[in-house]
Amino acid sequence: SSVLKQHSFGRFYAAQKSSLSSLVFVETKGSGYDEGALNAITAARKISGPVVAVVAGSEADAVAKAIAKIEGVTKVVFAKDAAYDHALPETTAALLKVLQEKEGATHIFAPHTAAGKNVMPRLAALLDAQQISDVISVESEDTFMRPVYAGNAIATVQSSDPIRVITVRTTAFPAAAASAEAAAEEEAAPAVNAQPLSTWLKEDVAKSDRPDLATAKRVVSGGRAVKSAEGFQIIYDLADKLGAGVGASRAAVDAGYCDNSLQVGQTGRIVAPDLYVAIGISGAIQHLAGMKDSKVIVAINKDADAPIFQMADYGLVGDLFTIVPELIEKI
Ligand code: FAD
Repeated sequence: SSVLKQHSFGRFYAAQKSSLSSLVFVETKGSGYDEGALNAITAARKISGPVVAVVAGSEADAVAKAIAKIEGVTKVVFAKDAAYDHALPETTAALLKVLQEKEGATHIFAPHTAAGKNVMPRLAALLDAQQISDVISVESEDTFMRPVYAGNAIATVQSSDPIRVITVRTTAFPAAAASAEAAAEEEAAPAVNAQPLSTWLKEDVAKSDRPDLATAKRVVSGGRAVKSAEGFQIIYDLADKLGAGVGASRAAVDAGYCDNSLQVGQTGRIVAPDLYVAIGISGAIQHLAGMKDSKVIVAINKDADAPIFQMADYGLVGDLFTIVPELIEKI
């Protein structure tokens, strides 16, 4: 009898497992999409069961075609409606809730981007679930790892909610690759009747020919020590020599030396490039929180005791206004 019991428990467990399924929220940008979705798809694939991508916006059908060709996507559900443009949380969360019910999804993933951070808490509230934010590892269907205290500790979180609402740290999961086969596309039910409490007015996007900070393979960042907006030019010059994206510390941003979209850190962008060059940056924990997963870290600082050197693979002690021009010339 005990063998039988075990056997039937095993079957029950298998049945539970096979009923797992994930939705992944894909933020559309016109006929394109935010590539953080590709990292979220990789995270969702750690959960057994189908991975259904949700695409919404006025050009959702075109985006759905592109997402259908991503490896690991079982199906794409799209809602072609301008009401979903710019991922307003009221409309997008309402749509995701409807699709969660329709698909019977047990997990809903989004990248931990501005849109993901805006939409998912509202969805979690609608589903009466405790959101699990900024995960860096999917250990099992109910257990996740996430940084706390600005990345100084890693918490392992176990969720007993039946539906798990998760945002994913994009740098912790590789982007899902393109696949030779396309998944099925399916049109979602007509627009959800949600009353938006917010309205999209406009966006000011800093235009740059340099690689995007979030995805650049190399990043050169400047700190307070560059002293002025003119002084920051040296950072751009080195970045251009290296084909790198440009970052900055909060002190440099707050002093107006560069645009605030360049801020790296706890309250800025989180980056993990192959090469990170920190110039005239002391290495405060809030800055380290945004770049310490970089593969190779180079620090240039005139203070040999600056905390950044504890994190750096290579350190140059000296005046940036001497060292950086020399580096530019030698490269
Ligand atoms: P400083 O700490 O002033 O360091 C300047 C460095 O330059 C020093 O080490 C100095 O030795 C060196 N230096 C000076 N002159 C030269 C020279 N000529 N050549 C070479 N080196 C030189 N900070 C962030 O960066 N990102 C964040 O997201 C962020 N979020 C925060 C959130 C909160 C809630 C708080 C409280 C703070 C946050 N901060 C953040 C601020 C952070 O604590 C630091 O104040 C900031 O990172 C310091 O910037 P810095 O290293 O450029 O300046």
